[in-house]
Amino acid sequence: MVIVALDFDSEDKALSIVRKLEGKIKIYKVGLELFLRDCKVVDKLLDFGVEVFLDLKFLDIPNTVCSAARVAIEKEVFMYNVHALGGFDFLKRVADFNAEYSEKLGVRKPVLLAVTILTSMDDRDLKSIGIRDTVDSEVLRLAEITKKAGLDGVVCSAREVRRIKEEFGKDFITVTPGIRPVWAAKNDQKRTVTPSEAVKLGTDFIVIGRPIIKSEDPLAAAERILNEIEQSG
Ligand code: C5P
Repeated sequence: MVIVALDFDSEDKALSIVRKLEGKIKIYKVGLELFLRDCKVVDKLLDFGVEVFLDLKFLDIPNTVCSAARVAIEKEVFMYNVHALGGFDFLKRVADFNAEYSEKLGVRKPVLLAVTILTSMDDRDLKSIGIRDTVDSEVLRLAEITKKAGLDGVVCSAREVRRIKEEFGKDFITVTPGIRPVWAAKNDQKRTVTPSEAVKLGTDFIVIGRPIIKSEDPLAAAERILNEIEQSG
């Protein structure tokens, strides 16, 4: 399933793309910039009848993160995320709260994901914060505590999906950015994977921003990507 990243500096631009993609794309990712410009954008998207992945990567003391999660649950976002670096107890507190509070309200439980190691970090960055392991093994360790704590899945590179599914089961959700169709510019993404490759690798959700939102014709770009995925399956 395709999630379009609404990396815009205004709500108008974001909603204009959503209108253009009506009927084709059902899930939209709201990140820090758009959220800080206008947090009401989440309500507007939901009113429009699309699903929201709230990509704010919460990391704070458990009590504070549960208070933020409370709002995400009340709004009935489809998906939101936290940093796995908060540790097992933190992850478990948030996962338990996510399940208990949504049940109490009688609303759909949002998909709760963890970010493992940001793809902008390498082994040297980890060393600088006292982590001696490689990024690859740290990603797996964090995915393991994410799963044990009861979260639904992780945000990861498509290249990590196979290993994560092998270790933690096919129901453990993977959400992967860094996706580029062969015909699109790579921008600042380095290790890209095409949409059909990502689906073949077993990813559940692919996140695509610029190849669609910066296209002259976003609808045509989205349709092309959806067709490529359909034909590869
Ligand atoms: O425009 P593009 O397709 O590169 O957008 C990808 C989206 O996924 C952006 O919102 C980016 O911040 C996000 N993302 C990423 N790599 C990660 C985590 C998130 O590109 N490791």
